[in-house]
Amino acid sequence: MKQCINCMTRLPRKEVAEIAWCALCAPCQQVVADQMKLLHDRPGGAEVQIYQCGWCGTARSCGLGSRTRCLVCLDERSVPDPAVQKIARRLELDGTWRENSEFIAATTVKIRLAKYFQPGWTVLATDVHGLPWTGFRWLTKSHGTWGRNTETGEVQLLKRARGEETLLYLVRYGKVLKFGRGTADRVRGHVELGAVPVLVLKGAGQEVAVAKDRLKRLHRTEMVSQRMPVDLFAVLPEGLDVTDGYPRS
Ligand SMILES: [Zn+2]
Ligand SMILES: [Zn+2]
Repeated sequence: MKQCINCMTRLPRKEVAEIAWCALCAPCQQVVADQMKLLHDRPGGAEVQIYQCGWCGTARSCGLGSRTRCLVCLDERSVPDPAVQKIARRLELDGTWRENSEFIAATTVKIRLAKYFQPGWTVLATDVHGLPWTGFRWLTKSHGTWGRNTETGEVQLLKRARGEETLLYLVRYGKVLKFGRGTADRVRGHVELGAVPVLVLKGAGQEVAVAKDRLKRLHRTEMVSQRMPVDLFAVLPEGLDVTDGYPRS
């Protein structure tokens, strides 16, 4: 027996199909049959296709010949995942379970995309194993993060943006705070994806790394409730406030 990850029905193995890394039953496949539209077919000859969700507009990468569905959208057959609901309670989200799950998934995707922002590229799509169902238990399997060269228009697999991480930042996605360390491009990436910069401190790379580790030990995860006091100055007292350099878009 296998279990459909969307509606949790148990079915004989031959009655489920692999969609977006996970097993889905036929009625759940039917609900999203028209959801994804092909945007880029085998960019640069890679065995990958980039699809966009017709419901919410989020794009994702997918292996050639595989079927997929949106990283963010659930549907009327979906049932709540207890682990995701626990995260929603910790973040003090006040929507329905489905709204909360979709918000967590969308924010998870944005945090991944921001890691790839760099001059000369438009980040198009990524692939996070386990979404939209099991946001925080993903494995590392992925069809990669893809971007378009702003000059040539070529679509390519992106490497994570490199650069000295001298910024400790706190941004707000809707009702959730996210802290992290990174480069100016990383912070700009978050802002372009809709985050509001709350505080951006500049410091020496090593001190920023230590400060970020201290915050992580305090809060355990990088996404916290907006009511949670996250004190960047307490962990990076010498930090220079450069928040004004990152106006919200
Ligand atoms: Zn199902
Ligand atoms: Zn969607």
